[in-house]
Amino acid sequence: MLVKHFVFGPIETNCYLVACEKTIKALIIDPDVRTKKEEELLLNEISRRNLQIKYIVNTHHHIDHTSGNAMLKKAFGAEILMHELDAKVLPEQWKWILESNKALEPPPCPFCGAEKTTLDVLKEQKKAIIGCNHCDFKFEVFPSPPADRLLHHGDVIKVGEIELNVIHTPGHSPGGISLYSEKEHVLFSGDTLFNLSKGRTDLLDGSEEDMMQSLKELMKLPEDTRVYPGHGEPTLIGREKRENPYILDLKIKRLAD
Ligand SMILES: [Zn+2]
Ligand SMILES: [Zn+2]
Ligand SMILES: [Zn+2]
Repeated sequence: MLVKHFVFGPIETNCYLVACEKTIKALIIDPDVRTKKEEELLLNEISRRNLQIKYIVNTHHHIDHTSGNAMLKKAFGAEILMHELDAKVLPEQWKWILESNKALEPPPCPFCGAEKTTLDVLKEQKKAIIGCNHCDFKFEVFPSPPADRLLHHGDVIKVGEIELNVIHTPGHSPGGISLYSEKEHVLFSGDTLFNLSKGRTDLLDGSEEDMMQSLKELMKLPEDTRVYPGHGEPTLIGREKRENPYILDLKIKRLAD
């Protein structure tokens, strides 16, 4: 199994190109492909290796994980796969962002630190654009086609000889998933488990309780499982068990019960 890692988009989302070297069949996880340059980087790698892209898998519905869906589906006829609970949001991501903006304080600008980001909504185009009045930060919805296949806990995504088990890991979003290769001891953890951290749960449909339960589930995987998260550096389950402050906190709570 080949794992090629890219970092795309304004908030540095990890995109993984995962290929079965024997059959040259492949899938793409979380493409935040927005610029021509990013598109070229990914497409060149695919054509250089002569890969057949079967699936685009989004670990959840957030716009920093789905912006390349439309382009990749068009280029390869690949199917879009997402958990049922998050797939509902997919055709209406702009609305979700609008609702978030109403319900929560607009977040600070990740580029310049300005106190508040701005939001423009173009209803007809199904677009929402998060921006900043003080710098160049721009983060817009690239509308995605609907999911072609709805995923559930326990499903297996097969690509050539690769088998990825779908683990439902809600918390960051209701339909967040992680993908686990038992054979390769590899986990793609989306925005659930990060290197010594975890995904945020203060967004519109997040749940801290679900997140902690999901992290607990992931800690049952073998310690030598290599973890490829949605943002930041890879890690190992064993290291997270011993050093991740949120997981250590879970253990302390369990001892106190
Ligand atoms: Zn996210
Ligand atoms: Zn993300
Ligand atoms: Zn700014």
